Amino acid sequence: MINMLSDTQTLPTEQMIEAITKVQLGDDVYSLDPSTKELERLAAEKMGKESAMFVPSGTMGNLCAIMAHTDRGDEVILEADSHIYYYETGGFALAGLSPRLVIGNKGVLDPDAVERTLREPNIHYPKTSLLCIENTHNRAGGTITSPERTRELCDLAHEKGLKVHIDGARIFNAAVALGVNVTDLVGPADSVMFCLSKGLSCPVGSVLAGSKEFIDKARRVRKLLGGGMRQVGVLSAAGIVALETMIERLSEDHRNARVLAEGLSKLPGISIDMTTVQTNIVQFDVSQLGISAREFAALLKAQGLLVSTRPPTRIRMVTNRHIESSHVADALQIVTQVINELN
Ligand SMILES: *Cc1c(COP(=O)(O)O)cnc(C)c1O
Repeated sequence: MINMLSDTQTLPTEQMIEAITKVQLGDDVYSLDPSTKELERLAAEKMGKESAMFVPSGTMGNLCAIMAHTDRGDEVILEADSHIYYYETGGFALAGLSPRLVIGNKGVLDPDAVERTLREPNIHYPKTSLLCIENTHNRAGGTITSPERTRELCDLAHEKGLKVHIDGARIFNAAVALGVNVTDLVGPADSVMFCLSKGLSCPVGSVLAGSKEFIDKARRVRKLLGGGMRQVGVLSAAGIVALETMIERLSEDHRNARVLAEGLSKLPGISIDMTTVQTNIVQFDVSQLGISAREFAALLKAQGLLVSTRPPTRIRMVTNRHIESSHVADALQIVTQVINELN
């Protein structure tokens, strides 16, 4: 099987397994787990923030962030197709927040559009206290919000009294693709969450970073949500290896994604917007083939290629550490064969 479901499919590296077996452990709820402290220090340093906190998932990291930044009843501005809105089981509702959606351009928010949604304080309106940016943007196909755009959005938000959280599940993909330091992408924001468990290949975990005051607050929320963990060093040990060894190689995933997308763009019946192919995600539409995404994915699976669906008619393929250029060639062959058999 060629598994292009997601970059979450990546398995830990040998170096990670070795680090896990050798790690010194303590109870992290008592702040006694040395490798978790080290991971959090390293992550804060990489993000250029004062403090950081390990969380079991990106979803919990985002929820900790939005709960720490807001009060119940507040309004939070989200991109209409954002992961927080779309895929996190409506956690903002659990936090008592009302979402205000702004449609981005291929996942990228326009400061003018955000400004138009902001209302003058008035007794009829909820208080708008948070803006979320997703970088890279998952449902838009791994698209990047640039450092300049991030700065503009953060300046606007701060001028209006809002905090800014970056859902940076794949922020290192954005930084590597642009050839910039990740601090250029997260510096102007108040907080950032990034995933260790995606392209960086850890078995479990994400990190939330921000000011010391913010992280202290977020730690209480994490405990509330059941995310205070004991000898979590078994996970943090892999996270340290990820931050030390797995970032630069993401460019290989981007190269493979580009070759895959270029191959797909030449196939009949497939419609693909090449401008969205910026990192490790490739999305395309199969409606011209007169078939649904689910049916198409089932035909690919029968030939040994696993992909995700974006119903009704879009397919998503994600490159990762286990996908080599020969797999890309094989995947293209399988897609070609399935299309030929449809005609
Ligand atoms: C994967 C992802 C998350 C959440 O990560 P989990 O660890 O699966 O909860 C958040 N935001 C984006 C953009 C993602 O792609």
